[in-house]
Amino acid sequence: MYVDVHAHIVHPSFAGEEDAVAQRAADAGLEYVIVNGLEPKSNRAVVELCSRHDHLLPAVGIYPVDACAHTLDRDAWAHDWPAPEAFDPDAEIDWIDSVADDVIAIGECGLDQYWVKDQAAEQERVLRRLCEVALAHDKPLILHTRKAEARTLEILLEMGVTKADFHCFGGKLKLAQRIAAAGYYLSIPPVVLRAEGFQRFAAKLPMDRLLTETDCPYMGPHKGERNEPKNVPIGVEAMASARGVSSAEMAQAIRDNFQRLFGL
Ligand SMILES: [Zn+2]
Repeated sequence: MYVDVHAHIVHPSFAGEEDAVAQRAADAGLEYVIVNGLEPKSNRAVVELCSRHDHLLPAVGIYPVDACAHTLDRDAWAHDWPAPEAFDPDAEIDWIDSVADDVIAIGECGLDQYWVKDQAAEQERVLRRLCEVALAHDKPLILHTRKAEARTLEILLEMGVTKADFHCFGGKLKLAQRIAAAGYYLSIPPVVLRAEGFQRFAAKLPMDRLLTETDCPYMGPHKGERNEPKNVPIGVEAMASARGVSSAEMAQAIRDNFQRLFGL
């Protein structure tokens, strides 16, 4: 009865193990895992992988750092991972629009002011176009909002989006409460086991707005270990203990929320 709304099983760290990861998720009681794409290559890999497993559901989108890969100053890139490969985001949005009826959600997409600080205009343009696709096909959005949480909320409200999940939300509790009050969901990864911020969200946000995710291979319960969907029950248990409810009650609430947002 567990669900993972944000997994990256097509990430290179799972190469060759994708089917085993899917099987381990099923064995751990995962009913559904939403596998999220980031750019043209991973979007197609997500669709292909999910076609082979009934419990894997595809979401396709454009990660905000990839959204501006064609406009950012590559000489100024100063991170210890390579600058993302450039592509035409509008051609990719057209492709996403063409497959949107066959996916569970539009994502990963959103805004990022952590990795790139001077590309807000292009990121917002791409996000708005993806919101239009989601609205046209009545699909939820799965959102990355790092250091741009309030701005993302503004854009959703302005565009009349009603179905969305804020994944791995890193903003303040007050803003998370506004997001929940607006009818959006927040998904919490298994790192909640050792991250007080996420424990606070699990304890204080309305029960009917919480979801679970892994963001695997990142955000695992144990430092330095690769995360995967089978870890969702560890996260649920930590959320339940932060809130002072039973794990079964927590899991059932999350399952009900998944049904309400994704219709499954
Ligand atoms: Zn992600």
